[in-house]
Amino acid sequence: KQAAYAALRDVEPRTTDGTRIDVLINAGLRDDIAHLAVTGADGVGLFRTEFQFLVSATLPQRERQLRLYRDVLDAAGEKPVVFRTVDIGGDKSLPYLREDGPGEENPAMGWRAVRVALERDGLLKVQARALIEAAAGKTLNVMFPMIAEPWEFDAARQVFDDQLAFLKGRKKLLPDRIRFGAMLEVPALAETLDILGPKIDFLSIGTNDLTQFLLAADRAHPKLAQRYDWISPAILRFIRRVVKAVEPYNIDLTVCGEMGGRQLEALALLAVGIRRLSITPAAVGPIKAMVRSLDLQTATAKMDEMLAYPPANMREVLQDWA
Ligand code: PEP
Ligand code: MG
Repeated sequence: KQAAYAALRDVEPRTTDGTRIDVLINAGLRDDIAHLAVTGADGVGLFRTEFQFLVSATLPQRERQLRLYRDVLDAAGEKPVVFRTVDIGGDKSLPYLREDGPGEENPAMGWRAVRVALERDGLLKVQARALIEAAAGKTLNVMFPMIAEPWEFDAARQVFDDQLAFLKGRKKLLPDRIRFGAMLEVPALAETLDILGPKIDFLSIGTNDLTQFLLAADRAHPKLAQRYDWISPAILRFIRRVVKAVEPYNIDLTVCGEMGGRQLEALALLAVGIRRLSITPAAVGPIKAMVRSLDLQTATAKMDEMLAYPPANMREVLQDWA
């Protein structure tokens, strides 16, 4: 099977009825970028910048961040890279960035990601400047994690706009283009996509966090593993509704959670209208193989039927059909 997947490297992920699916990879380390060439993926849909922070004993200074981002962009060449600003705090806690006050009872819903970045805005400023400088003369794609309400996107973007103005004033070479996006991980954001939609260039659904919040089931709790099931009518209807909600806007919609890296789950995602997946590199071969065996129109009709009257054992029914 490995050899069969490797043979798909230069083959486009296209369904049997002709729809091109974008398959990108998730990454976090400089060396991960090599997977682009190995897998033939379309780009990096999620670069988790917090990895550098997590492996470091002290807060990485701007020079070090800049070097990493520049290396990543150089290694990716023509292929796009989406940098996610740091998602730290919560369960990804750093010894040198302790929250003042008592520990958190619900770290996943706590002081993390853009919530930290907006409050400790020195952190985001430094990262913004490193990213802008690293992408001089190129396209920069920036994505903010855990956005719950549109104003958080505006505030985070403002930090980048300020840094851009500052660097322009110093006659620095700037990126040719900056594209801004948000992650949809907090369900509430789905209620305000009419407000956010016109402001963003892309939206990425983080199904790892989104699922735990929609089902109120801790993504890491072993006793909840059965409940934390992506082939759920609620999850799939939710995602289908998001696909419809962003249609009026000219934005790329991606799923970047682990859900997209499993064959049955990816099939379900395509059947509810997703056309762009960012997944772990090892999943690119299997997902391409699935895409190339899929009749999307039939799958969509089957999914519509299932979501209208969801069977109790939806996973089994879909698996049998697949
Ligand atoms: C997600 O929540 O789906 C996601 C991609 O982000 P992370 O797994 O880093 O929380
Ligand atoms: Mg997340």
